Amino acid sequence: MAEAVPSDEVRVLVYESSNVQRRILEAMLKLAGYVYHSVFTADDALREARSGAYGIFISNIEHSDLSGLELFWHLKADDNALGIYCIAVTAGERIQTVAEALDSGADDFIRKPYEELELNARVRAASRTVLLQQKLTRLALTDALTGVANRRAFMERLGAEVSRAHRHGNTLSVIMADIDHFKRVNDTYGHAAGDVVICDTVTRMGTGTRQSDLLGRLGGEEFAVLLPETDAKAAMALAEKMRKAVDAETFQVADGCALPVSISLGVAQWTDDDKSAEDLLSRADHALYLSKEAGRNRVSCAETARVPVAEHAS
Ligand code: GH3
Ligand code: MG
Ligand code: MG
Repeated sequence: MAEAVPSDEVRVLVYESSNVQRRILEAMLKLAGYVYHSVFTADDALREARSGAYGIFISNIEHSDLSGLELFWHLKADDNALGIYCIAVTAGERIQTVAEALDSGADDFIRKPYEELELNARVRAASRTVLLQQKLTRLALTDALTGVANRRAFMERLGAEVSRAHRHGNTLSVIMADIDHFKRVNDTYGHAAGDVVICDTVTRMGTGTRQSDLLGRLGGEEFAVLLPETDAKAAMALAEKMRKAVDAETFQVADGCALPVSISLGVAQWTDDDKSAEDLLSRADHALYLSKEAGRNRVSCAETARVPVAEHAS
């Protein structure tokens, strides 16, 4: 019996120059339950492959505009398309062609004419690899304790947003946050209770963020929020909302113990003076430091750093 196909999870991109062969291939993919999309030029193939919408790319080697070998080579050299699983299709019998395709970046090959049994098995094998790769990528980018973005994921996204802000002048702000006197929580109630506080803090901070915002745990009891299309004023308002959400109610830790917890926050908006993501983050971090210095449980802004907006000393 055929293995279940994760058809709605791994989409297939097809670049087959022969109309007849393409229809045969499409019919087979459709019958097997795959979602596929066909392209008709190398430019479209490259653009779609880079879009991140597809897990598998099936392309024959001979095209009139760009050879399949060059296509694979371009894709494997591109960070945005690196994860796509490339299946080279060749009509010839030459072992040399297959070797060249694999050496150019193809992950597998199929010989024409398409045989349904073989095509399905190859695409299933490709799906397994793609799903495993997606799972590993998710794990590499997720903080194990809280389930939000880890430092690596946050810095990657921040880098991308900063490039956009740099090139197109988009507005961008970040919030840095740190739990106040967290060491006391660990020392008094134990590390497990500390972990509960970290998780609950993330949950409380997360309410009020938008789909396009990114909340990340940078390490220990430090968090950051990336806010695209948001100026310092709106970021300050969100930071204050987060501060209140943490401060509003006590945290339940072991033995029904109710614990008051607070966070200090720093806000910075991207400016032309910032040269890098690190510059922006370091200004937000400086504002956070000022919140700590001023008595904790408050929000400070890098631009108006000496005048914390909300003063709620613990
Ligand atoms: P401040 O108000 O100045 O931020 O004081 P603090 O006590 O929060 O700061 P400090 O940096 O001295 O302490 C942070 C503590 O966080 C020390 C470390 O043991 C603890 N920590 C770091 N990572 C974790 C974690 O994953 N779980 C738990 N439970 N504790 C952690
Ligand atoms: Mg702290
Ligand atoms: Mg800290």
